[in-house]
Amino acid sequence: MRILVIGAGIVGAALADRLARPADGGRAGPGDAVTVVEELRPGAGTSGTSYAWFNANDPADSAYHRFRTDALRTWRDLAAGLGDPSWYRPAGNIAWTADEDEKAELAARVDGLARLGYAARLIGGDRLRELEPAVRVPDGALIAHFPDEGFVHGGLAAQALAQRAAESGARLVTGRRAVGLNVDGGRVTGARLDDGRDLDADLTICAAGRHAPALLATAGIVLPLVDPSKPGSAAPCLVATTTPVSGVLNGLIHAPELSARPAEHGGLVLEAYDIDAGIDDAIPADRVEAAGADLLARARTLIPGLSADIAGVRRCVRPLPVDGYPLVGPQLPGLYTVVTHSGITLAPHLAELVAQEVHGSPAEALTPYRPDRHT
Ligand SMILES: Cc1cc2nc3c(=O)[nH]c(=O)nc-3n(C[C@H](O)[C@H](O)[C@H](O)COP(=O)(O)OP(=O)(O)OC[C@H]3O[C@@H](n4cnc5c(N)ncnc54)[C@H](O)[C@@H]3O)c2cc1C
Repeated sequence: MRILVIGAGIVGAALADRLARPADGGRAGPGDAVTVVEELRPGAGTSGTSYAWFNANDPADSAYHRFRTDALRTWRDLAAGLGDPSWYRPAGNIAWTADEDEKAELAARVDGLARLGYAARLIGGDRLRELEPAVRVPDGALIAHFPDEGFVHGGLAAQALAQRAAESGARLVTGRRAVGLNVDGGRVTGARLDDGRDLDADLTICAAGRHAPALLATAGIVLPLVDPSKPGSAAPCLVATTTPVSGVLNGLIHAPELSARPAEHGGLVLEAYDIDAGIDDAIPADRVEAAGADLLARARTLIPGLSADIAGVRRCVRPLPVDGYPLVGPQLPGLYTVVTHSGITLAPHLAELVAQEVHGSPAEALTPYRPDRHT
């Protein structure tokens, strides 16, 4: 089968890697020819700027929680198969709060997760100091530890998976945009590139992340993603990175006003939900800069004596389905879509399940996430 994957973020790269690798458990198609087309380079889209926390940290929807814990297992297996690369960091996550209402919420979350068999526990200040010696929290704070969570460096992960796909025989076409899907008699037959070339395929997989709605619209398909240009949409956000600082954090920290983790080049990645809430398409450069300064001030409260400065602040857009859940499945004959938020957590697991479906065995685990569930 000729398979065309459009987009080489973490989703498209994991898919290409899975589809291009030789038969495994009877699922992969040894006769498949996989082509990946990527407008920029692997991992250069949202995956490269993501906060990239892999987790199943919400017990509220137990089925989705289970799906995500399966995804964490798939990540462990994938990373082990790659020799536990340094871009995969199962270094744990710590969350804390000093607010009384939020303490009750955090305790309930830990309890709900522990009841589901997930590694979640409350810890004291002594344990926090062992895990994250540089971090200071106020006396009386409630502190939770989730030891099986972690993060990936999303750009490096996508690059590594795309490279392994190429080594397995996939053809990578980079620096080219698919400007439209080709449709013949109701069947998608591939895509047209911005240089006028047509890439023909028996199956085209749209893994274009936040750009998927524009691409799918060329075949008359409406994908229910949050429109980032709408005021108050939760899709746009800001992520700051700092200059290098050695060893100040080991894993992820979720403080009340700051999320932080180690960055790829030795600094920190910083994000804050309340700052994200004020971001929109038209945010001027001076406000982006001010948000960076605000994030750095928060980081210096969390980590007293932090000597780093802001290295950059990037405005990015989450590929956010309107109900928050993945959008995965066939849409027209010859066309399959895989678009999701939490793509860092879910990509390798989705790749396994999609490979199974592509080769003729429906994956029941994907049933709740079909793109047409809204119609
Ligand atoms: C600030 C932020 C924080 C996040 N935090 C987390 C988190 O903690 N945990 C988590 O699991 N997820 C998180 N996410 C979500 C996660 O990053 C995304 O779900 C994931 O990166 C999406 O991957 P993707 O491969 O679908 O998209 P992308 O990485 O955007 O890849 C799509 C690729 O397709 C290419 N492309 C698009 N259109 C075309 C076209 N027409 N032709 C050719 N190429 C095309 C793009 O260049 C891009 O490289 C976060 C996202 C953001 C923005």
